Amino acid sequence: MSEVYDVVVVGGGPAGLSAALNLARARRRVLVLDGNRPRHAATLLSHGFLTRDGIPPLDLRRIGREEVAGYENAEVQFALVQSVTRAEDGFRVVAQGVRGEPDRDVVTTSIVIATGITETLPALQNMRAFYGTDLHSCVECDGFEKADAPLAFFGESDDLAEWALLIAQWSDDLIVFTNGADVLPADEEARLGAAGISVERREIAELAGGREGFTGVVLADGTTVPRTAGFVRPAWAAKLDFLADLGVETDGEGLVVVDGWGRTSVAGVYAAGDITPPGPQQLIVAAGAGARVARALNRDRAGVQA
Ligand SMILES: Cc1cc2nc3c(=O)[nH]c(=O)nc-3n(C[C@H](O)[C@H](O)[C@H](O)COP(=O)(O)OP(=O)(O)OC[C@H]3O[C@@H](n4cnc5c(N)ncnc54)[C@H](O)[C@@H]3O)c2cc1C
Repeated sequence: MSEVYDVVVVGGGPAGLSAALNLARARRRVLVLDGNRPRHAATLLSHGFLTRDGIPPLDLRRIGREEVAGYENAEVQFALVQSVTRAEDGFRVVAQGVRGEPDRDVVTTSIVIATGITETLPALQNMRAFYGTDLHSCVECDGFEKADAPLAFFGESDDLAEWALLIAQWSDDLIVFTNGADVLPADEEARLGAAGISVERREIAELAGGREGFTGVVLADGTTVPRTAGFVRPAWAAKLDFLADLGVETDGEGLVVVDGWGRTSVAGVYAAGDITPPGPQQLIVAAGAGARVARALNRDRAGVQA
């Protein structure tokens, strides 16, 4: 016999845990299954979460798990969900335990998808060594600590100009490194130039630095451009293979399409956080979305308006 829950929350980041907390408080029987691969694990401190500014991200999640698990009708477990399929009166969820925790095979009436997104950084030598300390991807999260520094911005996508203009709000010494990619047409480069932002198109050999941190960009021709910090435009992906059987609608980016309350195209399936459009957001935004989806789910179950 499978165990039966009111709600299974897939993903234990701020979106999933916030949904679970509010659903537990609504006396729903809740199970959170978390693969424990947070996107922000590379970083030492999280910023911008009111009352938690500067908290280590793993502490934020641990406190969240403890708060949810403090309710006797809620469980939080490390497990990677392998499949969600239709079952009588709901869904069957199969998960593989991680970090020594057991596999799970449960039945639930409702699902909250809060699996976040994964990111791929440009393939630059030593990028990983400095990512999360000197190099970041979220300027709203980490720009303040890098204010007025000589900044690098790395990216190879079509939206570099928009990103660069935003980053320049934190420093007037910004160089965009395209690593030889065919991006930033002349009109966009001119727009950046007018804003005091330089563009370096030569290929990159490696990022320089050591224990002292990131110190500059070594170009393929041997030139070193001194820099002390920077930002990077990753590529993002939504990994939703485990949902394939349900036919949940996704957008062109592979993100789960939701209404204003987090309802997906499939009745009983909800989504919150970075896995919903527009994708990468912030911790407090994800947590807020989790609380909102909990309200809608609970009211839908009660048959009253959200
Ligand atoms: C390097 C970095 C630094 C950041 N710094 C900040 C900051 O300072 N301030 C800020 O506000 N925001 C910051 N962010 C953004 C913030 O981390 C995200 O917006 C936020 O974590 C999104 O929350 P989420 O709950 O939607 O997803 P996540 O936090 O990504 O959590 C999703 C969880 O779901 C799990 N999961 C995925 N698939 C499955 C599955 N099949 N089964 C079970 N579990 C699964 C993952 O392992 C993960 O634990 C940063 C992001 C990065 C990458």
